[in-house]
Amino acid sequence: MTLQADLKTAQDRLAEYLAEARHAVAFTGAGLSTESGIPDFRSPGGLWTQNKPIPFEIFLAHRAARTEAWRRKFAMDAAFSSAKPGRGHLALARLIQDGQLSGIITQNIDGLHQASGVPPDALVELHGNGTYATCLDCESRYELDWVHTQFHAHGELAPDCPACGGPVKSATISFGQSMPQGEMLRASAMTRSSDLFIVIGSSLVVYPAASFPIRAKQNGARLVILNREPTELDDLADLVVRAEIGDVLAPFA
Ligand code: NAD
Ligand code: ZN
Repeated sequence: MTLQADLKTAQDRLAEYLAEARHAVAFTGAGLSTESGIPDFRSPGGLWTQNKPIPFEIFLAHRAARTEAWRRKFAMDAAFSSAKPGRGHLALARLIQDGQLSGIITQNIDGLHQASGVPPDALVELHGNGTYATCLDCESRYELDWVHTQFHAHGELAPDCPACGGPVKSATISFGQSMPQGEMLRASAMTRSSDLFIVIGSSLVVYPAASFPIRAKQNGARLVILNREPTELDDLADLVVRAEIGDVLAPFA
């Protein structure tokens, strides 16, 4: 049965669930980072309303789309490079450190879990990482500074890979791009072994990412959804908490 809890009840219940769990896993989305000043996708004024994402096919097909993608990326990085982990990130890092949380599966690409001290083996980045770039053909890695220099050296034009001429893209997963296999496998394993699955700050509309909470629940795990707005999967959850993430998680830090 789904319980919609007030703040204090939710914190007590969460603490109880964590104490009872052997393998608790957190599944995080853009809502976790809004407290750090990074807009999410689907909230009013979120990134989605400002710029519809560029689908992978379009990125591949047109240099103008690649150029636009890099222009947006550099603008975002300039605005958000000073973002610091929020109360939610810090609480999750602490829970990992204390062994109360086994791992985190994140849809975020902002690096704030790492910045809060979560070790790489406890973190799965389902949608990649925005701190470097790769050639989509030969997989050579390029640093963002290099891309930035090339971009401006050619009058604001997306650069190609010097090694093979392929398109260079930030190491994140776009709509329409296939998911990273290794990360999908790690996320599946984490989900299978979890007996408590805590969704934090995700609208749960992006697939296959949103299939993980469903699989956890089907596997017998308790499902908690912490999000200020209703999500697609609230009906499945054992506990739904509609509140500010930082407020709920602050005592766990
Ligand atoms: P989303 O924008 O679809 O959903 C975020 C949810 O978080 C919303 O339902 C919103 O109500 C809730 N929320 C926002 N701030 C909150 C707060 N302080 N407390 C409680 N709830 C809050 O995000 P998604 O489900 O993660 O999907 C977005 C996709 O876009 C992901 O695939 C991700 O890769 C990408 N993205 C990443 C970032 C980032 O790395 N920080 C930012 C924007 C988008
Ligand atoms: Zn290449």
